[in-house]
Amino acid sequence: MTRVIIVGSGIAALSFIRHIKHEIEVICITKDQLSKNNSNFAQGGICFSMHENDEGLAHSLDTYEAGAKMGDLSVIQKVIAKSYPLIQQLIDEGLAFDTNTANKELDYAMEGAHSKARILHSGGDQTGKFIAKHMVAHLSHPNVTIIEDTEVIDLLKNTENEVCGVLALGNQNEFHTIEGDAVILATGGINNVFPTHSNIPDTLTSGPIIALHHNLTLESMEMIQFHPTLLGKPYEAYSLVSEAVRGSGAVLVNETGFRFMDSIHPMKSLAPRDITSRALYHQQMQGHECFLDISRIPNFETRFPTIYAAVQKHYPGAMKEHRIPVTPGAHYTVGGIQSEINGKTNLNNVYVIGEAACTNFHGANRLASNSLLEGLVMGAMCADKVNKTITPIDSSHFHAGVKIPDISEETIHQIQQQSFEILGVERNGQQMKDYAETIQHALLSCPLTEKVTKSNWQRYCVAKTLQIICESALAREESRGVHYRIDFPIQNSNWQNLKVELNSGGNENVKSITRQRENHSILH
Ligand SMILES: Cc1cc2nc3c(=O)[nH]c(=O)nc-3n(C[C@H](O)[C@H](O)[C@H](O)COP(=O)(O)OP(=O)(O)OC[C@H]3O[C@@H](n4cnc5c(N)ncnc54)[C@H](O)[C@@H]3O)c2cc1C
Repeated sequence: MTRVIIVGSGIAALSFIRHIKHEIEVICITKDQLSKNNSNFAQGGICFSMHENDEGLAHSLDTYEAGAKMGDLSVIQKVIAKSYPLIQQLIDEGLAFDTNTANKELDYAMEGAHSKARILHSGGDQTGKFIAKHMVAHLSHPNVTIIEDTEVIDLLKNTENEVCGVLALGNQNEFHTIEGDAVILATGGINNVFPTHSNIPDTLTSGPIIALHHNLTLESMEMIQFHPTLLGKPYEAYSLVSEAVRGSGAVLVNETGFRFMDSIHPMKSLAPRDITSRALYHQQMQGHECFLDISRIPNFETRFPTIYAAVQKHYPGAMKEHRIPVTPGAHYTVGGIQSEINGKTNLNNVYVIGEAACTNFHGANRLASNSLLEGLVMGAMCADKVNKTITPIDSSHFHAGVKIPDISEETIHQIQQQSFEILGVERNGQQMKDYAETIQHALLSCPLTEKVTKSNWQRYCVAKTLQIICESALAREESRGVHYRIDFPIQNSNWQNLKVELNSGGNENVKSITRQRENHSILH
């Protein structure tokens, strides 16, 4: 029997497990508990544009436009087309997407930068939890082992240099070697590297670090989507206030009641996320506080129960005033480990799916509610690919262990605290250069250790991840989508087809950044 190892237990991993052949053994390794991931946090919903009867054209164009014309239209169209049968299957199985009270038909919601209402939601604002729960309940695979609280930190290779498993750290910091004939990284995004973020507040994923150590290419890592409306204030954010709230009529205002989005974008409070996030940031820079005025939303409590509960907990007076305090924060990793839409990478037997991957579906910005869709599709397509191609791999391996810089808690804290100011919604070349040097110094000036524990591994991952984002952001000398540089404020058409790639060259430190336009690349 062949065996696959799937790292992660979010929607991408669950979709993969749903579609993998029963003859293939599945080992699912997840660093926290099965349902503790961003998929279970997703509030707004999942795009389902089948009813538009245009073969996904309007949805594709919205995705492409939201991505500042950097996405790959053929990838976009394929992913959207593939999502229809998969979402329909969930509906047919009985997943209770919310319906319109009047006619009991599916209630399609509107979100920012969509030209049509096409977002299915479930349990009001509990879509991710409901989808994940449904998928877990419907897992029929007879041979799945789920290993929780175990963090994969490296890949194993056999004497032929083929990947044949993973090295993982258990709860007591003990090493585990787990063999498999294919490894699927479904490790999610890196947004919680920033101090203000919307993600599950636990440890950072090591997907990109593992990838770098094995020469997998990281693409578009400068593209981090900042969500404009996290509940709270700068450096004091609690959770997300979904775009669906604005889709339902909430309006962004400052403390004087001024609707600052009205003069900034024709879609006003529903403008694309990057524009909205910067507008909030500018308001804050001018000393204002930002709020969502929800006075026009009836039944807020039942339509958005999760958000309502969070507001009541942290700002008990806000509901009475119909004004929720909001601030921008890191939300979604648009770039990732380069892969095809079936997860295939340039390393045999290694696949990457979901938010961890970069297929150029999102371009330079993600359209709201497109990522649950992407995870669902990539998981299923990857399983199809693995079903057809998996072969037994010689599993004899030797792993000499991992050696990492042992960075102090204090140094990491300092680096991380500066990250939003330097790599957040507005970036500046000189500041980023200085920051990159600081990180490089931190990585090189501390002792190396072979005694890898979950905590020193995390500290290393934080520094390395911020270095990756910083180097990538420095390389893109324009402003596009979620990446805005004060020193290059204009979207430059020469950059539309250029992608920032980062390879380690097998080394621990970032070695080169390749910019590619179709067939040629410039190394510097
Ligand atoms: C608050 C919030 C609201 C959102 N709302 C929406 C929405 O309405 N619609 C939408 O489409 N998208 C939404 N998103 C984005 C969406 O939830 C994610 O993009 C999507 O769920 C990612 O799925 P995934 O399976 O790729 O990764 P995740 O769900 O993030 O799962 C990653 C998994 O990998 C595991 N992992 C990581 N590294 C390791 C390792 N080294 N070893 C072992 N395990 C590891 C983690 O524990 C986790 O189980 C939202 C995100 C957030 C945070």
